[in-house]
Amino acid sequence: MAGYPELNFCPQCGGPLEDREAYGRVRRYCPACDLIIFRDPKVAAGVVVEEEGRVLLIQRGEHTIRQGLWSIPAGFVEYDEDPATTAVRECREETGLEVELTGLLDVIPGGGSKGEASFLIVYQGRITGGRLAAGDDADRAGFFPPDDLPPLAFGSTRRALERWRRQRRCEEE
Ligand SMILES: [Zn+2]
Repeated sequence: MAGYPELNFCPQCGGPLEDREAYGRVRRYCPACDLIIFRDPKVAAGVVVEEEGRVLLIQRGEHTIRQGLWSIPAGFVEYDEDPATTAVRECREETGLEVELTGLLDVIPGGGSKGEASFLIVYQGRITGGRLAAGDDADRAGFFPPDDLPPLAFGSTRRALERWRRQRRCEEE
């Protein structure tokens, strides 16, 4: 996939890797360890938090891709972390707000470009505590009405919010 650099050296022994056909596609292979390298997708998790009809968004700060644009609180899932924990943690770090997850909204493929997740798991949540204050890699955090959103950072953000809007319309009907 574009933007994902190929591995050149074995993560186990440091030896040079070669290409080998295995399990239906060409994969990197270490002849010294007899090890096939399976690349894993980069997974992110985030949360759509609604309060009084408005949605919680953060403005992406320095050292992030798409700096200055807005997204839902989200971040990469650590290799040993439950994605639900990631979503709650990222929301706390980026907005100061404690949330309780109430359901799964969507699983969205990412753009696949450098620094972007392969896919994003989006939960819905409600605020249980904390105080709104941007933190970590967010410059600002705030609530926006569905018809007046700021410039969004990712296609996945747009899709998550579209999904949220559709769901709200269904609930109003
Ligand atoms: Zn090796």
